[in-house]
Amino acid sequence: MKSHVFFDLDNTLWDFKANSRDTLTELYAYFRLNTIIPDAELFIEFYEGFNAACWAAYQRNEMRKDFLRHQRFFLTLAHFGFKNRTLAKKLGAEYVARSPLKTKLLPHAMEVVERLHAEFPLHIITNGFQEVQSVKLRESGLAPYFKEIITSEKAGHKKPSPRIFQLALKRSGAAAEQSWMVGDDYQADALGGWQSGLRSIWLEPTAETSSHPEIQKVACLSEVPKIILG
Ligand SMILES: [Mg+2]
Repeated sequence: MKSHVFFDLDNTLWDFKANSRDTLTELYAYFRLNTIIPDAELFIEFYEGFNAACWAAYQRNEMRKDFLRHQRFFLTLAHFGFKNRTLAKKLGAEYVARSPLKTKLLPHAMEVVERLHAEFPLHIITNGFQEVQSVKLRESGLAPYFKEIITSEKAGHKKPSPRIFQLALKRSGAAAEQSWMVGDDYQADALGGWQSGLRSIWLEPTAETSSHPEIQKVACLSEVPKIILG
């Protein structure tokens, strides 16, 4: 049976951090947030902290998507003494409209995808939101290289649940032992994929997390093809 390669999207191929920061810088100017927060760097720093906390709650199924979208901005504004749900909702809507249109990719993402696409069917497994992820793939030029796009929203389960990996394998007609999972999140991607029987590559490993010896660690996407191609 043919090998298949499954990629995570955010911070694995699509440069979420850079694209998000570009969007937040635009929003700071567009909404004239300088009247509330002294500079854009501070806005971004506190937003990223509150966003991470909201996402962690979402991953634990303790926060709903629609609330998360404005709550992360509400908490940021509130930190600077401006508790304004209306403005937070406007920021949340504008962020979701603008950020997926950004097109920065991780270093070597396009060449790695092109190289592997010549040999294997490629697919995406993402915990990101359905309507947002499809826009990112289209706008960044990645879409033509991927067959199946499996989002946790459609699957009804988030990585690292084996259910989303099983669905991805079934939809793509792939066998777990012939397949690879490549992603930047240890729990969701690297361990999740490995526990579901795929071979697993962890991108940009963090020193503080000790990983399973069978999970391959790479500092850069450019190392991925030679591991998979052998
Ligand atoms: Mg990721």
